[in-house]
Amino acid sequence: MTKLNLAGIGMTSQRTRDRLVQRLCNQGISNFEVLDVMRTTPRHIFLDEALAHRAYEDDALPIGFQQTLSQPYTVARMTELLLADAPLKRVLEVGTGSGYQTTVLAQLVERVYSVERIKPLQEKARQRLRTLGARNVHLKHADGGFGWPDKGPFDGIISTAAPERVPEELIAQLAVGGRLVIPVGDHLKQQLMLVVKTEEGVTTTVVEPAFFVPLKSGVIS
Ligand code: SAH
Repeated sequence: MTKLNLAGIGMTSQRTRDRLVQRLCNQGISNFEVLDVMRTTPRHIFLDEALAHRAYEDDALPIGFQQTLSQPYTVARMTELLLADAPLKRVLEVGTGSGYQTTVLAQLVERVYSVERIKPLQEKARQRLRTLGARNVHLKHADGGFGWPDKGPFDGIISTAAPERVPEELIAQLAVGGRLVIPVGDHLKQQLMLVVKTEEGVTTTVVEPAFFVPLKSGVIS
């Protein structure tokens, strides 16, 4: 768990952010810790200046390289599903992107390992995480479809890009009792899935329809 350094970040008015959290409540987000972190995390610093004024609307927004910063509802929902009732020690994120989801997680779990395939996005995210003083985050430039084998097993894995089917490697890197939250499908139809690993195997639940950028293989430097 890290506490962010928010000095000099220049937050948008408290009212705007309270309204966002109210909307998340109305949409069914009920984990108070998640709501509180969403209320205090500055989303505008994860966007280019020209888009920053839209940071507290409940929309996905472009971050370059045809990628998007996920909608706040989606970030809140996935985080809530990941946390469930137990505190998490080690969490893997596939798709660092802007680093916003990473920053939300960093405040709620002990350690975050986040993998991104597009180097310039990773570098920007690294800079933002440094500014915020999120010291419990480790970043890697790699194809996250293979997870981060030498750092596993993980209590939680979250993917912010959608593969066509759940990668076996990610299931293999889940600890027993661990939870994987991942959108699965193609550009026509995706479902958000929750995969839980038990002693006997895995249970998979379809949560709701999803709209994510695709999980791609290889890396871009
Ligand atoms: N969590 C991000 C969402 C970014 S969109 C945020 O809060 O901003 C999804 C990200 O997944 C993109 O940055 C994309 O480059 C990345 N991605 C797609 N396929 C990947 C892969 N195989 N390995 C790692 N990252 C991947």
